[in-house]
Amino acid sequence: MQFPGAHILSVEQFDRADIERIFAVADSMEPYALRKRVTRVLEGAILGNMFFEPSTRTRVSFGCAFNLLGGEVRETTGFKSSAIAKGESLYDTARVLSGYSDVICMRHPEEGSVAEFASASRVPVVNGGDGANEHPSQALLDLYTIQKEVRAKGGSMDSLRIAMIGDLKYGRTVHSLSKLLALYDRVEVALVSPQELAMPEKYVETLRAAGHKVTVSSELSQSISSVDIVYSTRIQEERFASKAEADLYRGRFRLNQAIYTQFCQPNTVIMHPLPRDSRADANELDTDLNQNPNLAIFRQTDNGILVRMALFAMILDVVDQVDKHARDVNWYHNRDLNELG
Ligand code: ASP
Repeated sequence: MQFPGAHILSVEQFDRADIERIFAVADSMEPYALRKRVTRVLEGAILGNMFFEPSTRTRVSFGCAFNLLGGEVRETTGFKSSAIAKGESLYDTARVLSGYSDVICMRHPEEGSVAEFASASRVPVVNGGDGANEHPSQALLDLYTIQKEVRAKGGSMDSLRIAMIGDLKYGRTVHSLSKLLALYDRVEVALVSPQELAMPEKYVETLRAAGHKVTVSSELSQSISSVDIVYSTRIQEERFASKAEADLYRGRFRLNQAIYTQFCQPNTVIMHPLPRDSRADANELDTDLNQNPNLAIFRQTDNGILVRMALFAMILDVVDQVDKHARDVNWYHNRDLNELG
């Protein structure tokens, strides 16, 4: 695809060559993310960060990625502080706000809303999550992480074995990730969820149409016994009619160190898009896994900066200029990426 000026709304826009380009640019961002160098390549540019649903990582890492390229960030969070609360349409908001920014990242609770906004925007729009539909930048950083993790263990993306666990019905990250996995060969996918929260058929079909072996089950232990990646997800409480209904499914697919030791192969990588629900009754991904070197959740978040920097550099067409506008840092810095397990 042509990146300069493009909206990023769905991972369906990408083919495998596009993904490889994004990942190569992401790799080249490492010195900047590690504060070994600073670049001012986007000096003067403004990112409009518009988040109408709760977000920490996605919002802050989009902003941070833009800052690391030298740009400025303006934020709108929540409906209450926006004129949408006064009845303004997405069309009007997009016409106005695209006059204030060079690129816009947007999260919204309704499926398709970011695409609707983008169709009226005069600048590129990146989907930061639209309801239960898609979360393209998360899927890209997940795939980037999977590739790094399996390669570090001598494996490859083709013939990957992955179990996706939890709320596969409402979890937009697994929807986008499934579409991306369809670009690879001979992937084995175990979909593990309560029946009521099963992966929607259209995504299962996409995986099967790619020739992948897909198993659907609500049984955890066997599904995680021979995979390279366990990708756990949160019950998407905000998409249920009530907390009581979400509570019915909480804790069904708990992963902790004892379960990992008993059922997983010693090298299995554990991922989660975060936030993990750490409340006592959540029983999702226990903190006793924090010492497990195969827990990749904080490597995912570090990788998110690299991938989001790459997207901005490509959309705003400055990939070749990043290094020209760079210098060494002049403040104390001593950081590393979260290390590979
Ligand atoms: N942060 C991810 C999302 O916005 C995952 C989650 O919220 O569970 O979709």
